[in-house]
Amino acid sequence: MMKSMVKYGKQILKKLTDSGYEAYFVGGFVRDELLGSASSDIDIATNALPNEVEDMFDNTAATGKKYGTITVFIEKHGFEVTTYRIDQEYTNFRQPESVNFSRILKDDLIRRDFTMNALAKDINGDVIDIFHGKEDINNKLIRAIDDPYKRFNEDALRILRAIRFAGKLNFKVEEKTLKAMEGHVHLLNELPTERVIKELDLILKQPHIKKAYQLMADINMGEVFDILSQAILKLKTTNLNVSIEQFFALGLYPEKTLNSEKWRFSKNQIGDIETIRGIMDVLSSQRLTPVIAYNYSKDLMLAANDLLSHFFKYDNQEDKIINLYRHLKINSFKDLEITGNDILPMVNKPKSVGKIIETLIEDVLTEKVENKLEALLKLANEIAEELNERN
Ligand code: ATP
Ligand code: MG
Repeated sequence: MMKSMVKYGKQILKKLTDSGYEAYFVGGFVRDELLGSASSDIDIATNALPNEVEDMFDNTAATGKKYGTITVFIEKHGFEVTTYRIDQEYTNFRQPESVNFSRILKDDLIRRDFTMNALAKDINGDVIDIFHGKEDINNKLIRAIDDPYKRFNEDALRILRAIRFAGKLNFKVEEKTLKAMEGHVHLLNELPTERVIKELDLILKQPHIKKAYQLMADINMGEVFDILSQAILKLKTTNLNVSIEQFFALGLYPEKTLNSEKWRFSKNQIGDIETIRGIMDVLSSQRLTPVIAYNYSKDLMLAANDLLSHFFKYDNQEDKIINLYRHLKINSFKDLEITGNDILPMVNKPKSVGKIIETLIEDVLTEKVENKLEALLKLANEIAEELNERN
């Protein structure tokens, strides 16, 4: 984070407090500052109402006005300024039905998830620490605020957030909090899978990933998401960061199928998961050839090789894969020195063109023929004659 961000943030606090309101830095920024690590953004809490915040600053956007959030821009940097809230009735184990605004800081801090995330810091640098978050930070503990069972029941996503913070900060989950996570792990099934996917994607990118895998195993997440049970079992003893596509492919291999109605991945992600899973079959049963390499992207091939070699006792073929792709004669049919138009006059049925190109691709890849127009024309003619005779 740039120093100027903190400076601008303080300008916002000053403007609010000069006008008679309360305003604090809250959440991750205060936590990360105490840890001496960088934050990506700065959140501000205030007892000014959203309309009052909008009136006070020149450049704002009503990014989450219903939930009290106005984004204030200073020199193109956005700061989320959120009115103290009391969350009402939770529905679907996620998201409060509605929020009430409050004028009292404590109301806003008590609705937060973990003690380390419920610190507030004023413009003078004084930290308000109602739930002993500093002590928990010093002891590297993630502790739910108030009754952990109640808090995970309100919002099951907090279970995944705890895992994410453990993997990010190398913290332990406090005992009662961990029990509650395990006790309510089934509620993860009630969350929209988009939210689960998004949070898992964040979790998998964390540096202390082993902690996160172990927590997933400890709370039996594999029983809730059967599709992930093998992946969690295999990963829990490793320090290996895998992509979310690898994570799911590892869960699927060798015989499960992805229910893409339930798991609302993007089309690309579904394709990648299924391709990695498919390449695992190929790599585990066939000798790697240029034709196989041509049919898959190098990244997905390496992703599949990673999983097989780490978790299924297959030889690591990374060097071979890299070499194969480096020396691949063509990467696409477009790289052929011959085109369909060159071949069309040779055949008596247009659909033969595709067949001939397919054969040419293979022969170029296996170096039976050079990728030169003259050589390709000659070979195409030979194949065309055979096909024409058969037709
Ligand atoms: P990061 O460094 O990943 O941004 P963060 O703590 O800032 O971590 P955010 O998701 O940005 O996390 O949320 C900001 C703050 O809002 C949190 O610190 C926490 O106080 C509160 N918060 C966010 N999500 C929840 C939730 N699901 N339940 C309760 N409080 C939450
Ligand atoms: Mg944040």
